This record gives sequence, structure tokens and C-alpha cells, in this order.
Amino acid sequence: MHFHQRTLMRPVACTGIGLHSGKIVNLCLRPAEPDTGVMFKRSDLPASPLIPADVHNVVSTELSTTVGSDGVTVSTVEHLLSALAGLGVDNVLVEVDAPEIPIMDGSAAPFVFLMRGAGFTSQGKPRQFYRAKREVSVSENGKSVAISPADELKVDFTIEFDHPLINQQKMGFVMDERGYDKEVSRARTFGFLQDIHRLHENGLALGGSLDNAVVLDDYTVLNDDGLRFTDEFVRHKVLDFLGDLALVGRPILGAFTAFKSGHDLNNKLFKKFLADPSAWTLVTPEAPAPALEPAAEPMPIFEPAAAQA
Ligand SMILES: [Zn+2]
Repeated sequence: MHFHQRTLMRPVACTGIGLHSGKIVNLCLRPAEPDTGVMFKRSDLPASPLIPADVHNVVSTELSTTVGSDGVTVSTVEHLLSALAGLGVDNVLVEVDAPEIPIMDGSAAPFVFLMRGAGFTSQGKPRQFYRAKREVSVSENGKSVAISPADELKVDFTIEFDHPLINQQKMGFVMDERGYDKEVSRARTFGFLQDIHRLHENGLALGGSLDNAVVLDDYTVLNDDGLRFTDEFVRHKVLDFLGDLALVGRPILGAFTAFKSGHDLNNKLFKKFLADPSAWTLVTPEAPAPALEPAAEPMPIFEPAAAQA
């Protein structure tokens, strides 16, 4: 866990395809001042308007999470936000020249790779965390998500799909940079062939393909290389959850339990949590004092005379 705010050491850029449009999108991540948070910038529009990453700026959760402010939007923000949260990057300016973040390979791993290339810098200013004080939950149509008090960030996620490769999958994850990198960041988004046909017929998800999603027919995975993990599906749900959670604007100490939740229900929980001041307190954890050096063993005294005896 990082106790001071972090940003990137230098700007980094990449290019990819937009999930919605299927067109090329250029993305640039730039270092930002302490307390900026994550700020999106639409460099393709006059005056390059800014959109703060904030749960109250979520304007759509269809297909992906879209944030907007004054009628200007950026879609498909959740995988990049997840990577930022997973790596503990608090402050960054996200410049895009399109109304969406590139989908890359459908996971957060390309963003992790990109940011690791830039490196990170501690900004000296303490991170303030929301600490959950009591349980808050939301549920709807057999789906639920709740937060309860904990000393760290934990996510327990369960999904159920009536599909032979998914059925029920569960994942418990405690936020940790290395764990995020290895266990979560590489899990790709997934979709069902019949849904993808329907979306394409309606001019939606034009950039969606086997290059950026796990695609399932009724029985199997259509991607040539198969799955990255047998439970890649629930891992991706944890990835998405952490991305949605980043819109809260500060790191959180709390234990989440999610059952079949998605972007919309996640967002409802975060808004309900923030709106209730009895549910949280702001804390500024201090780095634990460095462990005391173990008391040095007394050096054996070598007494030549005795040794010779
Ligand atoms: Zn996703």
C-alpha cells in the first residue's frame, strides 16, 4: 500500500481501437499535480474540455462505463481506471482524441505495461483513504453488492452464467500491486456470440472482436488461444469492479462482496456509500515505522589463548 500520492514519472502514449467506433484512438497519460485525481481531456474538441473521473459524472453503463461533464463524454474508462488503481497512481491527466479510451486487448495489462514503462514518482503528499465504518449494500434483480469495514481493500466477487465454461465462479482479491498485476490485470472482457451479432447489427461495439474480448458460443471459447485463466471471467469482473471503484476518487479501506454485480449496480453502491457520512471516515494512514533491527547477537569473543588450548 502506498501512503503518499503518486503520479507517472513522464508522459506515455499508445494507440488502439475504440470499442464503440472501431476507429483509431490516440491516448496519452501525463503526470499531474497532487490532489488532481484522474482527469480526462478530450484533445480532439475545441478548448480540449476536461472531465474529472468521478462517480457523479457516470452518464452511462451500457457496454462500458462512460463519464461526462457539460455534454462531453469519454467511454470505456474502466480498464484504464482499474490499472491506475491497481498500480496506486492517484494523479494523472488522460488525454484522448476520441470519445473513448482504446480497448487494447480487452484487459488492463497493456495499460499496466505502458505505465510501468513511464515509472512512478511519489509526490510527498499523504493519500487520504475512505475507511468504511458500517455496512452499506444495494441489490436489484437477484444481483447485489455491499461494503463492510476492513483494514484493507478486499473484493469478493461471484458470477453465475448459464454456460458450461462459466457456471459459477468466485474470486477473493486483496488489493496489492503485484497481486493486481499477476492475478487481475490480464483478464479480458468477454461476450457471447449472439449478443455481439446483435450489437454489430445495431451499429454498436464496432471495434469489438476476438482481438479484444473472449467470445463464447453456446459451448466453447472461439478465440484460437483459448483462455488466459480458467476463471478469466470472474477475474475480469474484479478488474472492472476496481475500475468502477476508482471513480470514488480516493482509495478505500473496506471489504466488498459482489454477487453478479455490474457497472450500474457498482456505481449505485458507491454513490449510496459516499452520500451517507455515517458510513465512512477519512483517514490518512501513516507508513508503518520501519521494523526495528533485531538486537545484534553478541560477537563471539575469540580468545586465541583459549583456542590454542
Ligand atoms: Zn471490462
